[in-house]
Amino acid sequence: MKAIQLQSIGQLALVDVAIPAIQADELLIRTGATTICTSDVNDLRGNPFGIDLPAVIGHEAAGVVAAVGAAVQRFSVGQRVATHPVHPCRNCPACRAGLGHLCERMGHFGVNLPGTMAEFYRVRQDRARPLPDEVSFKAGALAEPVCVCLEALAQARLPAGGRLLIVGDGPFGVLMARLAQKRPLGRVVLAGQMDFRLGFAPAGMRLNVKETADPVEAMRRANDHAGYDAAILAVGSRQAFADGLACLKPRGRMVVFSALPGETPVDLFAVHLKELEIVGACSDKDLFDQAMPLLRDPALDELVTHHFPLTEYRQAFELAEFGKQQAMKVAFTF
Ligand SMILES: [Zn+2]
Ligand SMILES: [Zn+2]
Repeated sequence: MKAIQLQSIGQLALVDVAIPAIQADELLIRTGATTICTSDVNDLRGNPFGIDLPAVIGHEAAGVVAAVGAAVQRFSVGQRVATHPVHPCRNCPACRAGLGHLCERMGHFGVNLPGTMAEFYRVRQDRARPLPDEVSFKAGALAEPVCVCLEALAQARLPAGGRLLIVGDGPFGVLMARLAQKRPLGRVVLAGQMDFRLGFAPAGMRLNVKETADPVEAMRRANDHAGYDAAILAVGSRQAFADGLACLKPRGRMVVFSALPGETPVDLFAVHLKELEIVGACSDKDLFDQAMPLLRDPALDELVTHHFPLTEYRQAFELAEFGKQQAMKVAFTF
């Protein structure tokens, strides 16, 4: 089968590899769509997760069941499914504590399991869900992005009527804003730098701080200077972290969703003085079932602005990395 392989840092190639062999509790999926994630671009630029190269990458995908293992009962060949990249081991202390998303020995598409940027991939049956006929494969590929955005909102632990600041107008920030819209919050502000990207978020939430001399003041003003109960870092920027922290009310919570490798300075005096909390959000604690009905939102299809065949992987990755004024999610379709 054809697949996109990360061969070394900066080096992608379209290669022929064997179709993955499945185990008894696994499904073989004929890929319908797979979307490029920020982390795929990060893998290409620096391999921060230390993936054993060469490797087929990609982890956000949906498709059709092409074969089932001997122990599979709930799925059948021909069925459309969405899949989740995280495969908890179910045995380590984190898994036994009910925190499979923080598993110490997890399998993950594109890291230590074959990636989804391929004509076929394999998934353990508990990490697949039936995809309704009316939901496209492109929207189905966003199942895990929706899960992780729900996790960021869960980690924000907002009270009813609470005020939320999301810093970063990429696909994840926009998705969080759309999901937050369905909740009984007092105010949601999505701060970003591009009108094109902010345009995918609900109208009343958009705040472009690009031309602003004082972004923190603009974010505070957008909330009538009431202070935010929580801020979510949805862009890999140290300045955005500092700005978000500065906008919190006493006992406010900063959710670190985007990856910021290395060390980041933190205003610990503000943390001390205002009794602030800083929490992480990575992957999701069993939110797959909660995410599935949300995939019916037609806005998800609009979020996937471009799609390419695997053969055009160079253009696709270039658009995902540099085309921020014209593209949101970029997909491979088959
Ligand atoms: Zn992803
Ligand atoms: Zn585990």
